[in-house]
Amino acid sequence: MTKKFYITTPLYYVNSQPHIGHAYTTVACDILARYKKSKGVGVHFLTGTDEHGANIEKTAKEAGKDPQQWTDEVAAKFKDLWKILNVEYDDFIRTTEPRHKEVVQKVFAKLLESGDIYKGSYEGNYCYSCEAYIDDKEATKDGKCPFHKKELTPLKEETYFFKLSKYGDKLLKFYQDNPTFLSPKTRSKEIINFVKEGLQDISVSRTKVSWGISVPNDDKHTIYVWFDALENYGSAIGMGEALDGNMENFKKFWPADIHLIGKEIFRFHAIIWPAMLMALGLEMPKKVFAHGWWTAEGEKMSKSMGNFVNPHDLIDKFGLDAFRYFVFREVPFGNDGDFSMTSFKQRYNSDLANDLGNLFSRIINIAGKNLEDKKIEANFDGGFGLTKNLPKISSEYDKYMEDLAFDKALETTWKLISDLNKATATHQPWVMVKEDKEKGVKFLKEVLVCLELVAKQVAPFMPDTATELKKRLATLEKGEPLFPRIQD
Ligand SMILES: [Zn+2]
Repeated sequence: MTKKFYITTPLYYVNSQPHIGHAYTTVACDILARYKKSKGVGVHFLTGTDEHGANIEKTAKEAGKDPQQWTDEVAAKFKDLWKILNVEYDDFIRTTEPRHKEVVQKVFAKLLESGDIYKGSYEGNYCYSCEAYIDDKEATKDGKCPFHKKELTPLKEETYFFKLSKYGDKLLKFYQDNPTFLSPKTRSKEIINFVKEGLQDISVSRTKVSWGISVPNDDKHTIYVWFDALENYGSAIGMGEALDGNMENFKKFWPADIHLIGKEIFRFHAIIWPAMLMALGLEMPKKVFAHGWWTAEGEKMSKSMGNFVNPHDLIDKFGLDAFRYFVFREVPFGNDGDFSMTSFKQRYNSDLANDLGNLFSRIINIAGKNLEDKKIEANFDGGFGLTKNLPKISSEYDKYMEDLAFDKALETTWKLISDLNKATATHQPWVMVKEDKEKGVKFLKEVLVCLELVAKQVAPFMPDTATELKKRLATLEKGEPLFPRIQD
């Protein structure tokens, strides 16, 4: 059996239109998925949309639409964006689909039966934007939501609770036994400290929200949107049957190898979802990785600022692959990053137009004119010391890709590109082929072997570019500039 790799994006909330934040997470998953596929791994890549809750109801109403119509439209926009971004997902799940709702109700009933969910009443301060109660220690000093900086509303309601408190020690032990579960390491401490302070049971139903999945046999309540949405990772791959003891389909992909998310939803994935799985007696995911946020020209991106970086604009102007390259080369994955037009243009011109583009067109041009046999020989060593480094470069690249250190993986590839550019400048193959043809041909053949590796290594990040590079290597035809320089 081939190895499997189950990777998920978060389910995107259809409260807003897709923007660079969504694009970033999803393309990151696509890069990993493509990389794993290139290694012969059986990848299953899940994405989708989170469609319930009071916010959706409200947003739809403001737009003069019913919630289902609204969610249909926004979900379609997400799908369109993934197409434009060349994201090769295997499954797109929507939480309003019957296949998901059935599982959510089944989980609820099961946990009610086992006593992990119980009925009580809740009194607290509620943030309507979070759709969550914010306890005093989380709220800001002036009693506002720490995420939305909005006033909280005091509420009391009958509610069902999930016994999260029961799982604190088990979670701590799990984090300890699985030190790479919470990634990157820099963000794990916050989670561990939060759990150490003691977990409270959480309210998992709402009587005020009608746009949601009903609690089984008590349809005055709908299931809390987070408790519903998290289950998509299982509902999409057969968790419903697994709860009935039929594990066959579920085991094909579960446990998830990685849940890739933004840091703002780390707690839900690092604490609540694992506790739910423990309560259900199911295996833990292998890793939850929380990446950072983008700012734009030094400012936080927000609706009110109207400064969201629109991936469509960048792609229209500079091409998809330049966008995919930039966001993963510019900032170490996991950290926060700033998007600036100046650095985008700079990287485009130096890394793509100059380093990569010129190297390929130069070498392919001379090779096309001077090589009789166009077939590239694997591991060809012409005595110029270039190909002998390739195994080391490959293993370095692999290590970085496995660690999600995308910027480092690209750095490794660009170090090779830079070495090849230097060697080309030093040896001047266009002169060599005139003075000593055999030697010149050997040099070109050695560089071509290296360029094959470059094409392979850029493929997960820039799939279309890689296809074009491979095509040109196969025919030794120079073609149009891949990345025409941006003029100011
Ligand atoms: Zn809030």
